[in-house]
Amino acid sequence: MADLDPRRALPQPTPETLPFWEGCKAGELRLQRCDACQHAYFPPRPFCPKCAGRAVSWFTASGRALLYSYVIHHRPVPGFTPPYSIAVVELAEGPRMMTNIVNCPQTPEALQLDMPLEVLFTPLTAAISLPQFQPAENRS
Ligand SMILES: [Zn+2]
Repeated sequence: MADLDPRRALPQPTPETLPFWEGCKAGELRLQRCDACQHAYFPPRPFCPKCAGRAVSWFTASGRALLYSYVIHHRPVPGFTPPYSIAVVELAEGPRMMTNIVNCPQTPEALQLDMPLEVLFTPLTAAISLPQFQPAENRS
């Protein structure tokens, strides 16, 4: 991508997280769910964090979330233009995820807790698209 700062740190997929990153590249937010107790969770791991069951399956989440918490970062960091939000969103399926809220002003007035959000995928490299969230009314 033309505007990607080459100093920006990139996620490094592991065997456990590769299906997640492949989903992001395909425009899908993929989570895991326990086959035994149906608990949906994130980040990816080979066993259920609730019941320790080892039978877990990938599924495609809705991409809908609510804003759970955030900070607005004002210091320049390589690859980021301040101010920008570092947020925790609660996915409709239950798990919470750290992300950025984009396509809206990075102000407390615009970033309201519990506001409805939807995922979008920002391509960084050929292999990595970053899941970020925007206000759900931005849907086009
Ligand atoms: Zn379980």
